Amino acid sequence: MKVRRAWRPAQLVERRRETESASTLVLEVTDWPGHLAGQHIDVRLTALDGYQAARSYSLAAPTNGDRIEITVQRVPDGEVSSYLVGEARDCDTVEVRGPVGGWFVWQPADTAPVLLVAGGSGVVPLMAMIRSRGAVSSTPFRLIYSVRTPRIGSTTMNFAVVRLRTVGSTSRFFTPVGRPRASRVRSGG
Ligand SMILES: Cc1cc2nc3c(=O)[nH]c(=O)nc-3n(C[C@H](O)[C@H](O)[C@H](O)COP(=O)(O)OP(=O)(O)OC[C@H]3O[C@@H](n4cnc5c(N)ncnc54)[C@H](O)[C@@H]3O)c2cc1C
Repeated sequence: MKVRRAWRPAQLVERRRETESASTLVLEVTDWPGHLAGQHIDVRLTALDGYQAARSYSLAAPTNGDRIEITVQRVPDGEVSSYLVGEARDCDTVEVRGPVGGWFVWQPADTAPVLLVAGGSGVVPLMAMIRSRGAVSSTPFRLIYSVRTPRIGSTTMNFAVVRLRTVGSTSRFFTPVGRPRASRVRSGG
């Protein structure tokens, strides 16, 4: 528990652009204790003048040795997300603390069917669950995901998209347009 509360250096070793405004950052943290899908970390930045800012980010992938992944959506004028998505470069070092949170986790040993519901960057911890499942489990998963701007381009999405709805898109690939309604979700149409 002590280790999880301590801030520790994390070096940026890889980054992947997921959408126009979101990137996945792979960080290397020496002696990372491991985590469960659904947990998050705190990330702390320190400016040259000593000013610090810390924010929480969900872990986006299963435990992989000392490497952890977060997917950050840039918030307009956001202090920390703007740096992580727009400015952070390979070998830059931030500080992380965690893993945090045990109330919203999924473990591959769970065999009950899973319904995942998310909007925007809320999909990040669910992606960790989907990736954990992909590695070792055949538990039935269904994801209902709402986004403002559809873009299915990520190479890391290893599941079939049946239907995706948005509030504002007119793309022919994502009809019918509109907020998801219970009746449509139930029918799958
Ligand atoms: C458990 C948890 C998990 C999370 N996981 C993720 C994740 O996986 N991915 C992700 O992208 N995010 C995640 N978040 C959100 C993340 O922690 C940050 O809140 C987010 O990145 C914005 O931080 P920021 O520093 O960029 O923005 P901030 O600087 O905090 O600003 C946020 C907004 O408030 C406005 N603002 C700031 N100060 C003022 C002010 N004084 N007056 C008026 N407006 C102001 C800014 O313009 C901006 O639009 C998570 C949050 C929690 C709690």
